[in-house]
Amino acid sequence: MKLIELPYAIDALEPVISAQTLSFHHGKHLQTYVDNLNKLIAGTEYETMPLEQIVSKAPAGPLFNNAGQVLNHNMYFTQFKTHDQVVGDNKAVMPGPTGHLKVQIEKQWGTLDAFKAEFEAKGVGLFGSGWVWLQSDAAGELSIAQYANADNPVAHGLKPLLTFDVWEHAYYLDYQNRRAAQLKELWNIVDWKVVENRYTA
Ligand code: MN
Repeated sequence: MKLIELPYAIDALEPVISAQTLSFHHGKHLQTYVDNLNKLIAGTEYETMPLEQIVSKAPAGPLFNNAGQVLNHNMYFTQFKTHDQVVGDNKAVMPGPTGHLKVQIEKQWGTLDAFKAEFEAKGVGLFGSGWVWLQSDAAGELSIAQYANADNPVAHGLKPLLTFDVWEHAYYLDYQNRRAAQLKELWNIVDWKVVENRYTA
């Protein structure tokens, strides 16, 4: 397994995620999970499996934890879009979801704002380290779920669509203890096209 390359410059997500946070989060934290995973799968039946399959099959413990964290971070880092549209004091309005995803969000939550409010609340309300996910089932029904530590929708047979990392390492350098503040800002860099492609894939 290789460390994924970021699809944008290290400072591209500022001011929502600083270059310093991104460099530690991707270059140190994720790199460590990748290194640990590679050590754990070497010479085992998992060595040639795709990452999602390892996550589905691994027993609870170090293998699941490291594979889960690689999957979670790979999906997290590739769902953002550069924030270079910020002009002066005006934050550019990122395009929201479109197509089937927009229809389904509005069907289940009424408005995108209502969806965001529940997503943020579940992120803030997750005790300890973990991830808040938007996921879908085989029928295309959406749900928002809290997962502790390295857990994720894939381990529960669901499709992972969008995730916010609520481990402290994701926000502490930029926001200190203010997890809620970071979650609110992250909407400014979500690339909904990516989320939509995951949903319809
Ligand atoms: Mn993280």
